[in-house]
Amino acid sequence: MSERPKEQTLAELAPARYECRSCGYVYEPTKGDSKTDIPAGTRFEELPLDWRCPVCGARRGVFQNVGASGAPLGFKKT
Ligand SMILES: [Zn+2]
Repeated sequence: MSERPKEQTLAELAPARYECRSCGYVYEPTKGDSKTDIPAGTRFEELPLDWRCPVCGARRGVFQNVGASGAPLGFKKT
């Protein structure tokens, strides 16, 4: 009997975070957003369509996917 653990993608383990390109706020799916009553564990894709950046009020379209927490991106902040 060989029981192989199902391989999980990084996306399944840790949902992607999204950064507001307007103010730099980062939406963390694992934390949700208390200011806008978003419970922890809510993915960005599951946010209400009228959800806006709690800091600057930018629309969802302004946010960009910055990858899951701890994922190697080779992404440098300036
Ligand atoms: Zn913002």
